[in-house]
Amino acid sequence: MNDQDNLDLELNDAEMHLYSRQILLDGWDVDAQEKLKFANVLIVGAGGIGCTSAELLARAGVGKITLIDSDTIEISNLQRQIAFTPNDLGCFKAEVLAKRLTQLNPHIVVEYIVNKLVSENVDELIQHQDLILDGCDNFTTRYLVNASCKKNQIPLISASAIGFQGQLFMIDSDSACYECLFPKDQFENEGMRCAESGVLATTPVVMASLQAHHALLYLGLDRSPLREKLLLWDGMSMKQRILHFEKDTNCSTCQASLSVNSVKFDTLPQ
Ligand SMILES: [Zn+2]
Repeated sequence: MNDQDNLDLELNDAEMHLYSRQILLDGWDVDAQEKLKFANVLIVGAGGIGCTSAELLARAGVGKITLIDSDTIEISNLQRQIAFTPNDLGCFKAEVLAKRLTQLNPHIVVEYIVNKLVSENVDELIQHQDLILDGCDNFTTRYLVNASCKKNQIPLISASAIGFQGQLFMIDSDSACYECLFPKDQFENEGMRCAESGVLATTPVVMASLQAHHALLYLGLDRSPLREKLLLWDGMSMKQRILHFEKDTNCSTCQASLSVNSVKFDTLPQ
């Protein structure tokens, strides 16, 4: 069954009430709110980034949220992974977060997958989404998500946080990609993870809030202020910088997505 069958076509009275502070906004209206309701978003990682961005999207009214994460909750996660409590230790992050989202907003559909995102399942999970939010904690997954989003022409908003610093960027089907910005051969083996390097409680929450905010702009208003831009947030000085990046003509991911999508085009019926 199509999950959309569970959703009414328009906002009902309870939803109008729940989202009234958004609908009243100048620059946001019922149309924007309905676009959120019909959106499918995949969130990669239910850690420090995913906990916050998933909660904000659920509260704001994104109609279908899918979570993927294979980890269980450890005591050192509780300092920043705001969906979890000491009672959840040992449980799967994706499952506990999904339950919380459903409790927060009964009008949305939440699915979760307890598994790693790998080359065998990534395309299947990404290709039917409207938007991907990446909040994973390692370069291998980040490159994999980037490549699949380019190949399947699905927009991606990616956030990361380490120590006192965070990064955020957006790419879409025609833009430069993560690998144009950080060539894989130079960065894949860096192995920097917040699990190993320390992170202040607030840093991932700040970055995930910005990521969720951008997702609402994109889904509701079709705005992409960080497309091909890298936002750098420094939590020590509280300064942020936004750098533009461009397509690297040598980027293998962009070249591969071009050839895949030109094949698709060539095989369209005349
Ligand atoms: Zn690229």
